[in-house]
Amino acid sequence: MSKYVIAIDQGTTSSRAIIFNHEGGIVSTGQKEHEQIFPKAGWVEHNPKEIWDNVREVIGQALSKANLTRHDIVAVGITNQRETAVVWDKNTGESVYNAIVWQDTRTQSIVDRLSADGGGDRFKDTVGLPLSTYFAGTKIVWILENVEGARERAEAGDLIFGTTDTWVLWNLTGGVNGGVHATDVTNASRTLFLDLKTLEWDDEILKAFDVPKSMLPEVRSSSEVYGTVSDSSLLREVPVAGILGDQQAATFGQAAFDKGEAKNTYGTGNFLIFNTGTDIVKSENGLLTTIGYKLGDGETHYALEGSIAVTGSLVQWLRDNLGIIQSAPDIEVLAKTVDDNGGAYFVPAFSGLFAPHWRSDARGALVGLTRFVNKGHIARAALESIAFQTREVLDAVNADSGVPLTELKVDGGATANDTLLQFQADILNVPVVRPVVAETTALGAAYAAGLAVGYWDNLDDLRNNWQEDKRWTPNMDDAERERLYRNWKKAVTKTLDWVD
Ligand code: ADP
Repeated sequence: MSKYVIAIDQGTTSSRAIIFNHEGGIVSTGQKEHEQIFPKAGWVEHNPKEIWDNVREVIGQALSKANLTRHDIVAVGITNQRETAVVWDKNTGESVYNAIVWQDTRTQSIVDRLSADGGGDRFKDTVGLPLSTYFAGTKIVWILENVEGARERAEAGDLIFGTTDTWVLWNLTGGVNGGVHATDVTNASRTLFLDLKTLEWDDEILKAFDVPKSMLPEVRSSSEVYGTVSDSSLLREVPVAGILGDQQAATFGQAAFDKGEAKNTYGTGNFLIFNTGTDIVKSENGLLTTIGYKLGDGETHYALEGSIAVTGSLVQWLRDNLGIIQSAPDIEVLAKTVDDNGGAYFVPAFSGLFAPHWRSDARGALVGLTRFVNKGHIARAALESIAFQTREVLDAVNADSGVPLTELKVDGGATANDTLLQFQADILNVPVVRPVVAETTALGAAYAAGLAVGYWDNLDDLRNNWQEDKRWTPNMDDAERERLYRNWKKAVTKTLDWVD
């Protein structure tokens, strides 16, 4: 009888459970959105309890849709929105505050305070990251400083921290009854606390942040058995055997295992990951240095990353805040009512600008407006902004690596948009390629889990599963490409220095 692997994808917008077969094909999916909580401008939260309830529910959905039980599942993999911080009491399982989401910018004053002594790059040599509101470490500090009693309880050893992989793992493996408090190296590399070389939490940095080490999860590889699912779950006794942060999981799911391979994911934000093999490459061009994966006792693979905060979420904003579309796919219909952007450029710096600028003082701008511009142009400008931001990141990757990428593997929700991907190929002047299984994030977590239990033998097994679905070829003359990109860069300058 056939066996399967299940991946839990705890994403920013929703949680999914996807069951995969040995060919890497999708057998069934469960999915549920959770509430996006915006208490103030710049603040973004999720309710951890809602997330855990949804994870349990989507596991049930996926199993029942395929008529499977835990006996058919050989391993569980977890992938997750990275950097989103949960702090909870290990004795009660209750979080002390909502999860503070990666997009949240409330920790700017903490970043400023830490940067005052040594600058924004003071820990970069060790952790690969600049000080930024983006990373989990600053969010832990905010909770310790702003939730009543949190610091005392943390120092007493009662409070523990995790990104949502850890939150799901701990609950899945028993919670207050012996839940495993661990994370993988890829998630750990997004806290600001992990030494990229030793793969250990850095005591000096923890001291500078004033975060008790006892709060932090154990750092494990991306592919090993962390524990087994507890009796209270439909998956009881199944080993949890893979964890990768969502962008690293997508890279793994795209089979970009080797140095020089890359992928770009189009989700809430965009994330381009470029595998640098076992080398820790320092970016001269505004990219992050991060961990790509580590399989059990194997070597650590590193990556350069270009993170863009707002891409698909700009589409959501047009839907929810302006109401000019009813659903995300409508943006393509609206954009197609016009031939071009009509002179309008939309820079969605809602959370500041991430790579390659790292300007938390930036705020969004829609520029180039005339009486001519209509909602079709705005839709078009929104889609183009996704592609322009990607061009900035790819230019940085090419500059850092010295070897230009010759094609770009893509995935994620917004790659359903043909108009976007054609414009992307045009503005990059390289082909854009989408695989058959576009759920590469979940697939990557399934691969990591399946490898650990011997369901797949090796990386070649996985490479053979990768199949091309569609390819977009550049079709724009050089002068037009450079004109559009030049205007985009001008538009970006209008968003800087906005926050006083
Ligand atoms: P995440 O994993 O970050 O939650 P997904 O990969 O599920 O994201 O992608 C969802 C995002 O893609 C949403 O922000 C949505 O607005 C965007 N999106 C979905 N369909 C389209 C489309 N046809 N065109 C443009 N954007 C889209």
